[in-house]
Amino acid sequence: MKCHDVRRYLSPYMDSELEATTTYEIVQHLENCHACREIVAAEERLERSIVGAMRRAEPGDDEIWKRVVTAGVGRRRRPRVQILVAASVFAAACVFLVFWAAPRQDLISCLRRDFELVETGRSALDVVASEPQALERFFAERMGKAVRVAPIDEFQLHGARVCSLRGAPTAFILYRKDGMRASVAIFDAEKLAGFAGADRDRTLWRDDAGKVHVVAVRSGGKIIGVAGSAPIDELEKLCNAFRE
Ligand SMILES: [Zn+2]
Repeated sequence: MKCHDVRRYLSPYMDSELEATTTYEIVQHLENCHACREIVAAEERLERSIVGAMRRAEPGDDEIWKRVVTAGVGRRRRPRVQILVAASVFAAACVFLVFWAAPRQDLISCLRRDFELVETGRSALDVVASEPQALERFFAERMGKAVRVAPIDEFQLHGARVCSLRGAPTAFILYRKDGMRASVAIFDAEKLAGFAGADRDRTLWRDDAGKVHVVAVRSGGKIIGVAGSAPIDELEKLCNAFRE
């Protein structure tokens, strides 16, 4: 396995979504490649800071924890079973907190991070093509479902990849315009129910702080997230082109 292969698999590798042989090959490569090790370490630090931000305690958390733990552990179970049950309840509660108590900002971080990974060459595109049909064929083969790739006058299609956002397969499409790039990520809204809390078809998120701007909307059963260095109004147009 070569450096560019490792970087291409970086996101599924970190989400433990690769098959064992690929994971093994990556681990082997990392043992001998300082540059790739540095990239993985940087990603892990970022991941930890995001999770840390998500897990910051909120007023009322203690109460929720007490209720979850008390409700989940049966009084008549043996201690060993209790520990196991408590551990599963704890794990479930972590998932609960990560998904349901996550601040809205987190989706923005994920979308921004995915764009930056491709922009800086740390994640490679799976396919480079400028025809919507070619990318639609790619998604149909790779994800086993149809993804509509919107042609839009102002932007040129550049390529695509399949990545994962919190374990949910995500179609990622890259556009170009005057040397600027913009990425569109499309995923099932129900997989990220905790990020929502807003009405159908309403613009959920809009963030123009920093160099990379992000817009996300819920449309139908999907959330469409657009990140890029183009002005946020342009990103919003791109986002709207994907609405159902
Ligand atoms: Zn390497």
